[in-house]
Amino acid sequence: MKKKRVVAKEIYTLADLKDWHDVDPPIRLGVFGDPVEHSLSPRMQNAALKHCKIDMQYARFQISPDELREAIDLIRKPEFVGVNLTIPHKIAALRLLDLADENVRRIGAVNVIKVESGKLHGFNTDGRGFARAIREVFSVDLRDLRVMILGAGGAARAIALQCAKENSERLVIANRSFEKAQKLADQLRDFFAGPKVLGPVARLQAIPLEEAAIRFQIGNVDLVVNTTPIGLNRGDPSPIPTRVLAPHLMVYDTIYSAARTPLVSAALEAGARGANGLSMLLHQGALAFEIWFQREAPIEVMRTALL
Ligand code: NAP
Repeated sequence: MKKKRVVAKEIYTLADLKDWHDVDPPIRLGVFGDPVEHSLSPRMQNAALKHCKIDMQYARFQISPDELREAIDLIRKPEFVGVNLTIPHKIAALRLLDLADENVRRIGAVNVIKVESGKLHGFNTDGRGFARAIREVFSVDLRDLRVMILGAGGAARAIALQCAKENSERLVIANRSFEKAQKLADQLRDFFAGPKVLGPVARLQAIPLEEAAIRFQIGNVDLVVNTTPIGLNRGDPSPIPTRVLAPHLMVYDTIYSAARTPLVSAALEAGARGANGLSMLLHQGALAFEIWFQREAPIEVMRTALL
């Protein structure tokens, strides 16, 4: 009897996972999110798989929060290599892992799962992806920088931990809910206990996400990083207005929905350097590929696919 040919879908669901019909090449990787249709990960990961002649593909999975447990259980099937997790699953997936690496435990969020002998091993590549992105776009290492992070959520925690581990000169965390910024700073206090203080300012500080407080810090900061969603939607303002920014700054927006996000535009207008989050997306994806396949990711192929 002739075998029925199954056509690949743009987006898979929990129902598909439960009643799996493979396509050619077989789906062994994917991203779980809600919403997920805008994810650029399939584009770069599929380009990498093809380039490396790995006979499998990476797909989008629309999974709601109440479906996450079942969906994650279903990828234990030995054929699955792993998945990425995006909004809103990075924190909820933590309790569904069998093993979590040190980064995941400290950050409290997971963005990469690798399936190994039916066990789910969690990783977080956002911090290292960020460090590689900063090195690439501004030709500088985090250890040389005084950094201000806007936000204190999952991405901010990954970036703050990376700055701490790389011994950044200074770290300022600015958040709408000040207590969350304070809590994050407290968790990192040990890393910043050393004497590497420049001038009268504290090495580690939490501040409210308010213009006056940010203005006060700008002269003692080299790199500003936005991890809030301000700028994601059309018509959003910049999270920091041009009048507060200064020409000496490097400004990195983790948002990549436009080449010139509102913050990047404000930075350029102020005479500063600015970049959007596409490079971080690329590098965190390349690190995920390296975790899954234990081989170097074809970074230029992935970059071309993203652009
Ligand atoms: P999250 O955990 O929900 O944290 C969001 C943060 O933004 C919180 O600190 C929150 O403050 C703040 N915030 C939310 N709405 C705000 C508003 N209207 N005004 C001021 N502050 C606001 O989210 P996440 O996982 O960290 O992700 C945040 C962003 O990072 C997303 O836009 C995502 O695209 C980006 N990201 C990019 C990459 C990349 O590869 N380029 C990777 C990861 C994440 P409160 O604490 O006061 O609620």
